[in-house]
Amino acid sequence: MRLFTLLLFLLAGFAGSAQDTAPARGRGCATDSYLEVLKQQDAGFEQRSRLATEAVQQALLQKPAGQYLRQATVSIPVVFHVVYNKAGENISDEQVLSQLAVLNEDFRRMNADTANTPAHFRPFAADTEIEFCLAIVDPQGNSSSGITRTRTTRESFSFVSDNIKSSASGGIDPWDNTLYLNIWIGNLANDELGYSSSPGAAASRDGVVLNYRAVGAAPANTSLWEYNLGRTATHEIGHWLGLKHIWGLGITCRDSDGIEDTPNQENETLGCPEGITSSCNNGPYGNMWQNFMDYTNDACMNLFTQGQAAYMQGVLRANRSSIFSSVACTGELRSRFETAEPVDTLIVEGEQVQFKGSFAGYKPDTWLWQFEGGTPATSTEQNPTVTYTRPGKYRVTLTTANASMSHTLEKEAFIHVTDNDLLVYPNPASGFIILEQPARQQVQQVQLTNHYGQVLLDQQMQERVLRLDVRDLPAGVYVLRISGSNGLRIRKVSVVK
Ligand code: ZN
Ligand code: CA
Repeated sequence: MRLFTLLLFLLAGFAGSAQDTAPARGRGCATDSYLEVLKQQDAGFEQRSRLATEAVQQALLQKPAGQYLRQATVSIPVVFHVVYNKAGENISDEQVLSQLAVLNEDFRRMNADTANTPAHFRPFAADTEIEFCLAIVDPQGNSSSGITRTRTTRESFSFVSDNIKSSASGGIDPWDNTLYLNIWIGNLANDELGYSSSPGAAASRDGVVLNYRAVGAAPANTSLWEYNLGRTATHEIGHWLGLKHIWGLGITCRDSDGIEDTPNQENETLGCPEGITSSCNNGPYGNMWQNFMDYTNDACMNLFTQGQAAYMQGVLRANRSSIFSSVACTGELRSRFETAEPVDTLIVEGEQVQFKGSFAGYKPDTWLWQFEGGTPATSTEQNPTVTYTRPGKYRVTLTTANASMSHTLEKEAFIHVTDNDLLVYPNPASGFIILEQPARQQVQQVQLTNHYGQVLLDQQMQERVLRLDVRDLPAGVYVLRISGSNGLRIRKVSVVK
C-alpha cells in the first residue's frame, strides 16, 4: 500500500515535470556547475584558472581599481552561433541584434532602467567602458554577418557535455577565441538560461552559451517569462570576464565574490524583491539584488559596480589582451608571420628558414616578402623558404594586400644568423674573453689553463655566449680548453694589461 502510494506520487511528479515548461524557480545560470564540470574534465583547468586570477590581481595592483576606467573604451568582437533543431529555435537576426543592443546599454550604463538603482547604490554603479561589436569578418577572412546558423538533429544541449561547442557533437566549433567572443544560442536542457567559461578554460570551450528563449529583449524576444530582456547575456558575459556570483559560491557569509564594493551577501536573490533585503550584517542598504551578477528577474537587475568594472577590465588586460588586436569588427587587414616549427629564428650560416605567412581581418590576395640578407631576397609565396649565408641580424618584411587594402609588417633583427664556428674574442684581451658559439649549442665546458697546465678558470657554458672574467689574471699567454659534443678544442689567448 505504501509502495503503491509512493509510485503514484512519483508518477504524478514525473507527469508534472514533463508538462511543466516553466523554468525552475529562479534564474537558471549553470556557470558554477559548469566550472565544476571543467575541473573534472580538464586536468589543467584549475591551475590555469589560478594563474589567470593571479595575473588579474597583479594587474590590478599595478593599476588600482578605477584607473583602468577612464581609458579608451574596449570593443569586444562577438559572433553569435544560432544552433537550432525546431524552427522556433532559429531566432531572428532582429532578436540577436536586440541582444547586442542590451549588452552595449548594460555595460555602458546606458540602460533605460538606471533609475531603478536605489539612490544608496548609485555611487557604486559603473560604466564599465566595455562595448560589444558584431564581427564583420570570419576567421577565414570572408565577410560575415556575425551570426552563424547551424541546423542540428540534437533536440537539446547540455553544459555537462558542452556539446553545442563542437560540430562533431551537433553544435558548431568556436571561432578563434583570442579574437572573438563566441556566444552559442540553442535549446538548453532543463531550462538552463545559460552558462559561461571563465578565464583559464581551454580554447575549444571558451565562450558563453545562451538559451534561445533568453536572447535579446522584448518585443524581439517573444518568450513570456522573467528572462526576456536580455540580461542573461549580460550576466554570463560578466562570468566570461571573471566575475563571480555576487553571493560567492555557497549559502554562507564566509565566502564572497572578491569584489570590494559589492555588499557581502549570503545567497542568491530570486524573483524581484521589494525594498531592502539584508544578510550577513551587510548594513543599512542590504543586499545589492539589483546587481547583474545576482539571480533576480531581468526587469529587476540594472547595475555593475565600479569594483566589478575594474575587475573585468583587469581580466581583459591580463587574460584576454589578444582581443585588443582583433580587427574582426573593423575588417582591416593585418599581416602576420612566424617561422614554421621547429625552425628557430636563431640559425647557423648556410641554414634555411621556412616562413609562415598569415593574416587577420579580410583575406589578402597577394603576399610580398622582403628578406634582408636572405636568398631569395623577395618572395610572393605565402610560406617561402629562405637561405641565410652570412652571419648577422636581419629584418623581415611582409606586405599583404587585397583589392581594397594592404598592410606591411616589419620585424627588425628577426633572423639571427650565427657564425658556423666558435668565436673567441678579443684576442689579446684585458678584461673579458667572450666565447660565442653557433646557434646549435655544442660547448659544455670551458677551462682556462696556464702554461703549467694549472686550471685557473673552469666554467659550464649554459648560454650561447659566455663572458670569461680575466681581469685578475697576470699578463701572459693562456690556453682555453673547450669541450663539448664535437670533442675538445684548444685555443691560445693572450691577456694584456
Ligand atoms: Zn551566473
Ligand atoms: Ca562582496
